[in-house]
Amino acid sequence: SNFSLPACPADPLLSLIGAFREDARPGKIDLSVGVFRDENGQTPVMHAVKQAEARLVAQQPTKTYLGPLGNVEFTQGVAGMAFGSARARRLAALQTPGGTGALRVAADLLVRNAASRARTGSERHGRIWVGLPTWSNHVPVFAAAGLEIRSYRAIDTETQRFDLDAFGAAMEQADPGDAVLLQGCCHNPTGIDPDDGQWARIAELLRDKDLVPLIDLAYQGLGRGIEEDALAACLLLDTVPDALIAYSCNKNFGLYRERVGALFIQAGDEAARVAASSNAADLVRANYSMPPDHGAAVVATILGDAALASAWYDELEAMRTRLVATRRALADAACAQGLALDSIAHQQGMFAQLALPPEAIADLRENHAIYMAPDGRINLAGLAMSDVERFASALARSFAR
Ligand code: PMP
Repeated sequence: SNFSLPACPADPLLSLIGAFREDARPGKIDLSVGVFRDENGQTPVMHAVKQAEARLVAQQPTKTYLGPLGNVEFTQGVAGMAFGSARARRLAALQTPGGTGALRVAADLLVRNAASRARTGSERHGRIWVGLPTWSNHVPVFAAAGLEIRSYRAIDTETQRFDLDAFGAAMEQADPGDAVLLQGCCHNPTGIDPDDGQWARIAELLRDKDLVPLIDLAYQGLGRGIEEDALAACLLLDTVPDALIAYSCNKNFGLYRERVGALFIQAGDEAARVAASSNAADLVRANYSMPPDHGAAVVATILGDAALASAWYDELEAMRTRLVATRRALADAACAQGLALDSIAHQQGMFAQLALPPEAIADLRENHAIYMAPDGRINLAGLAMSDVERFASALARSFAR
């Protein structure tokens, strides 16, 4: 063959999904996959989504092309809901294939921008600062786009807080114009977000050093609430002139496979914004041409209808309160087992990361049929209330080993 490619190693998370499916033991628990689940372990289509889909089938007049920026009603609806209409007016926006697509277009734009700056200054490919640990796809997406990646320690494991000192030290090394990845809420994989005071400091540091935040907002409404979860992004938008926001609707609308997302761009003045938007459209044309419509049309339909929007909001609140209640129950059950995991109750979103060695993670899988990601990440939504006690006691035995 003309192909001489060595095979890629299997994605460890995907192989876990297969192993879980084949596990015949009753009561097996899957905490590995990053999707929301209800108390029965299901990830049903939201009612508001079903209604919007029915309406689209009945009423959508055409499926002709929309163009590289996608559905404008969708991007305006999401921006208005997330950031308020005044901020939304200052943003260029494009619909993307999921939050991942938004991250990739953002990275492509940063690379092109760096090349454009380099002609008049230092030669550079564009650089992004990434706090570790982070979602396992961040670094591959940025690397594939050709960004230079620099990392810093994001979490102080001792205090279970965002490590502002490490962040500040990293920013000392950054050059003006560098991008800085920040997860807007519900940090994946740790659930540990900066607190309000830390966000204020982060925003000042970015402003003072002329850095460009790339805000990954993939879980709005699953942390403290719809408005609360966008506060950090709003603060950053209000503090720095230039910012990128990669938004995902796949968790908060339960649309996963429909690949719904958006990239929002704040760029100093009107001319810079128009230029950034046209460059993003140009990059999209040469990549996937334009985004798929269906999921974005569903979201636009929901946000554009007061009754559907309120039904969606209630369903999202039910998902969020399930996560909060599961966190509390697990922290309490762990405490009863003598484990100090109270921080789980104070963290946010779907994930927490347990400081377990690989042998303990293997022990939980082999001897208790409890599956978690190789880095100790657990998805709280994978835990039914009725399984909390059993999980906590299995954990206590693993920690004791
Ligand atoms: N960012 C983070 C932090 C995520 O956890 C995810 C999904 N796992 C994404 C972005 C992208 O999600 P999607 O492409 O499905 O919208």
